[in-house]
Amino acid sequence: MAIRIILLGAPGSGKGTQSARIQEAYGVPQISTGDMLRAAIAEGSAVGKKAESFVKSGALVPDDVILDLIRDRVAKPDAAKGFIFDGFPRSLPQAEGLDRLFTETGMSLDRALLIDVPYERILARMTSRRVCGNCGAVYNVITQPPQKDGVCDRCGSALVQREDDTVETVRHRLDVYEANTAPLIEYYRKRDLLSVVPGDAGVDQVFRSVQEILGAL
Ligand SMILES: [Zn+2]
Repeated sequence: MAIRIILLGAPGSGKGTQSARIQEAYGVPQISTGDMLRAAIAEGSAVGKKAESFVKSGALVPDDVILDLIRDRVAKPDAAKGFIFDGFPRSLPQAEGLDRLFTETGMSLDRALLIDVPYERILARMTSRRVCGNCGAVYNVITQPPQKDGVCDRCGSALVQREDDTVETVRHRLDVYEANTAPLIEYYRKRDLLSVVPGDAGVDQVFRSVQEILGAL
């Protein structure tokens, strides 16, 4: 049985970890646009060359080129048992394009899995990192706090919050994610392809939920 799924989830939802677990347990590759682009360009395939011209000029690679890359990618032997899409589709036109591609190639999408973690929980997870301004040691005020608040265990210097980890920056990233993803969630829900995985639990528990869904396919 092949497993062909799309993984959806906010930054900080643990989606990457779950993808790795699925790849390992089911022997399927993850297909992400960036990796696929790099591989096709390195390979020098026809579509790879086309993609390269956009990448080199700094332009966004058009959807039809991405879809051609996907068509080649899903036909490779390692994808015979299925695959996981991560970070694709990102928009409704891409989702519709993927549907057309599946129809043409006689494949079907089995599930869109949404790793669902409450917004405030993700915000807390992602803003809890602190780094030592001196030695670079990394802490997490929730899961791995220093012995003394705001002070590095290793060298005694002050811990700081990186610009990327501030509430303002993370909120912005999450808002952009939600705006982009909400239409996709709706799209797959309407087609009865959406499964929502409660992601606010330990990695093992979340993976058990994923396995239950995939086992029922
Ligand atoms: Zn330090």
